[in-house]
Amino acid sequence: MSQRTFSIIKPDAVRKGYTAAILAEIEKAGFKIIAIKKLSISKSQAEGFYYVHKERPFFDSLTSFMSSGPIFPLVLEKENAIADLRKLMGATNPANAEEGTIRKKFAGSIEENAIHGSDAEDTAKFEIGYFFAGYELA
Ligand code: GDP
Repeated sequence: MSQRTFSIIKPDAVRKGYTAAILAEIEKAGFKIIAIKKLSISKSQAEGFYYVHKERPFFDSLTSFMSSGPIFPLVLEKENAIADLRKLMGATNPANAEEGTIRKKFAGSIEENAIHGSDAEDTAKFEIGYFFAGYELA
C-alpha cells in the first residue's frame, strides 16, 4: 500500500546548489512528489519541529543550522515510503553512510547532512502537518 513520508532538503544542500540533484535521486528511487515548497524558518519554528530532540546537546546548534537559510520541505509518496527514504538518505553521519546514498553524496557533516526524513508513521504525520495544510496535499 502506498505511504506518505516527509522530507526536508536542508540549508547546507540548498546553499551548495544540490537541490535539483537530490530531487532527481528521490524521483529516480520511485517517490512521487506530492508537495514541495521553498521557505526559511525561524529558530523557534525549527525548535518546534525538532522538539523531540530538545534535551540533546546538539539541539541549539541543530536549530540554528536549520534556520540559517532556505529549505525545501517535501511530502513524498510510494510503497514503504518511510523506510525506503531512510535507506536512500543513508546514516545520519555521512562518514558512516553507504555508497550511493544521498548523505554519502551530498552531506558535509553529522549536522549539515543534506536531508531529513521521517522515522515512523506518527512522526511523518506530525511533520507533514507542521509544514503543509490539507489543501496543499489534495
Ligand atoms: P536523522 O533521523 O538521521 O536525521 O538523525 P536524528 O533524528 O538522530 O537527528 C536529527 C538531526 O540532528 C540529524 O539529521 C543531524 O542534522 C543532527 N544531529 C544528529 N546527531 C548529531 C550530533 O551528534 N551532533 C550534531 N551537531 N548534530 C547532530
